[in-house]
Amino acid sequence: MAVDRFGRNLHYLRISLTDHCNLRCVYCMPEDMVFQPNAELMQDDEILVLAGMFAQLGFNKIRLTGGEPTLRKNVVELVREIAHLPGIDSVSMTTNGILLPRLAENLAKAGLKRVNISLDTLDEKKFKTMTRWGSIKDVWEGIQAAEQAGLTPVKINAVVVRNYNEDDVLDLARLTLTHPWQIRFIEMMPLGGATEFQQQLVVSAAEISRRVEREFGELIPLHNGKLDGEARVYRIPGALGEVGFIASVTKPFCALCTRARLTADGYLRLCLLREGEVDLLTPLRQGASPAELRQLILDGLWQKPWGHGLAHNEVAVNRVMNQIGG
Ligand code: SAM
Ligand code: SF4
Repeated sequence: MAVDRFGRNLHYLRISLTDHCNLRCVYCMPEDMVFQPNAELMQDDEILVLAGMFAQLGFNKIRLTGGEPTLRKNVVELVREIAHLPGIDSVSMTTNGILLPRLAENLAKAGLKRVNISLDTLDEKKFKTMTRWGSIKDVWEGIQAAEQAGLTPVKINAVVVRNYNEDDVLDLARLTLTHPWQIRFIEMMPLGGATEFQQQLVVSAAEISRRVEREFGELIPLHNGKLDGEARVYRIPGALGEVGFIASVTKPFCALCTRARLTADGYLRLCLLREGEVDLLTPLRQGASPAELRQLILDGLWQKPWGHGLAHNEVAVNRVMNQIGG
């Protein structure tokens, strides 16, 4: 069992399968983003070796992310292999959904349990502005494909950005009246190059939930009002689905964090919002033994920071979001 020096039991690994993406969301990366060459990224066998080591250390929950994880060649095979690693209970994915019509069924058959799909607005023009390149129709078809394939409950991630989509939270929340989805409103986090934009245009979860309550009435807290993962989850009275609020900036959930991240280029990242990392890929390629790699991982996990430092204006600038895997 892996623990850090604060006694947190770490068992949830997010693996970024690639930093590449078929969108360019304004809060995630610059339009002229330059991606890493594939040779610098973990190859399939390297992902499996490292994922297997984390599984041996007690990590039982894996989320595949990116960049856009569905762009990874062999993503179905990777899911199958990861899902079959001894000790792994669940493999899920965060995706922009665009390629799900092609992939959802095979991913589900390979052992993927659930997907979180990003959708920030139901307004086509705003969607294009926020993703720079995307079309809602593609994402919508991705959501349908996920449902049909049984990748449920579908969770929808919406990052709320001032002057871009804060008015759209109502239309998104309204979807839960007729769909058994969980719509999660996420505070924009500052990272890497776009820090000023991200800090100036953040909308707090408290503000978003006030808007939703003004429109739909008092929200009913679920899970006894406690955090479900990173979200506080509620139901609009009479709704089929749920709304969630992820207040990473204004109400950090660091004390309950059980996560570690593996970047697409094979670094163990201890906190999304702190720069500290441990290179695992170089030693792996240089022939480090399983025992040496295991020790590197354990030492890194032990040093996991207590939490992020956004309240003190400490921002991690060494990577942008798609390189770490949100
Ligand atoms: N491409 C996939 C997607 O968009 O779902 C997976 C990777 S993306 C980096 C993972 C999640 O991080 C998405 O839900 C995205 O909206 C969110 N995200 C990206 N940049 C963010 C930021 N600055 N603050 C908060 N969430 C962010
Ligand atoms: Fe791509 Fe996801 Fe980042 Fe949007 S949030 S640019 S879809 S990685």
